[in-house]
Amino acid sequence: MRMSADSLSRYLEATLAAAEAADRRRVRRTISAPIPQQPTRILVDGRLCTAFCSNDYLGLSGDPRIAAAFAGAAAQYGVGSGASHLVCGHGPEHAALEEALADFLDRERAILFSTGYMANLGIAAALVGRGDLVVEDRLNHASLIDAGLATGARFQRYAHADAASADAVLAKHTARHRLLATDGVFSMDGDVAPLVELAEICSERDAWLVIDDAHGFGVLGAHGRGSVEAHGLSASQAPVLMATLGKAIGVFGAFVAGSRDLIDVLVQRARTYIYTTALPPAVAAAARQALELVRTESWRRDHLHELIGRFRSGAAALGLTLLPSGTPIQPLVLGSERRAVAASRHLLAAGLYVPAIRPPTVPAGSSRLRITLSAAHSAQDVARLLETLAEWQRTAAGRDA
Ligand code: PMP
Repeated sequence: MRMSADSLSRYLEATLAAAEAADRRRVRRTISAPIPQQPTRILVDGRLCTAFCSNDYLGLSGDPRIAAAFAGAAAQYGVGSGASHLVCGHGPEHAALEEALADFLDRERAILFSTGYMANLGIAAALVGRGDLVVEDRLNHASLIDAGLATGARFQRYAHADAASADAVLAKHTARHRLLATDGVFSMDGDVAPLVELAEICSERDAWLVIDDAHGFGVLGAHGRGSVEAHGLSASQAPVLMATLGKAIGVFGAFVAGSRDLIDVLVQRARTYIYTTALPPAVAAAARQALELVRTESWRRDHLHELIGRFRSGAAALGLTLLPSGTPIQPLVLGSERRAVAASRHLLAAGLYVPAIRPPTVPAGSSRLRITLSAAHSAQDVARLLETLAEWQRTAAGRDA
């Protein structure tokens, strides 16, 4: 007993020391938004800052109408769902949200999952297994990568956002069933997948396209329907569409939209759906109210895209090279962990909160500030961010950025 406890302590200490030595130790800060309607004004360990790092792209997370829907449903149905969807956890709020999502996306059906991570694991395991092939963009979100690896299928990556590379992988590997999974908008780079080309390749080579649109849903497309709308893909070209409800929707949870049979197969086979407690009904009610705001308040998207343009042209004028992205994710790649952490500290000292993103979340040597914009920001917020980046450029550490 004693021996194993000692070896565990040694292992834990060594693991933390290695993370520290590599400037990769992650720390959590306690963050709160004192005025919910202003979600970008946050208290970081008690200090008021402007956040440029949240995925609350439409600024909906603190909307009082959504909070009222949440409170109303909690009062009506209680807080906990009590069981999994297949036992007795599936209530009218879940059903109504699934219907609203399917209607918004013009799909036969939709199914809720508790998180996007679980949705991705559930989709992959329900559709493929040993003897099959999973093909993924090398910069896919960790949950899609983990989902593919966990299936037991042969797993192959292709070069980032490179349809020809995906095609070459599919040409090389035959299998009973082949699944190609991609982020719609890449979470750490902000660029978009070549969905039209990927859909064509999948159709030619008989592969099943899975799109994780966590960062496109609500933001892209004329109506906010996401990457699929922005690229003009039909339901049959994008047969498995997953997105989350914790980003632009401002709430929590995730869903998959597709054909009646796809959703029914997920009900039968997705273990992360079957063996977990259903979302609280109040979360579903809140997400349905948020979806209504995504539908009716298009000014949020217009304002957000205006801010994105403003930030990119301001950064270009400063000589800062951002990754090519037309989405709210605007990364400034700085290279080493140390440099990214120093830049983040500089911004924090000026009251701007942008944590450094380091490996293994991003490839070694590409540590960055993942700057994100929100419809809750003002033009003045963006001006302040640009001024602070200009000040940082004038410091020794900021030169050559
Ligand atoms: N997919 C992508 C592309 C994501 O960025 C995330 C969350 N960061 C997820 C899936 C996981 O979603 P959730 O947070 O709901 O688990």
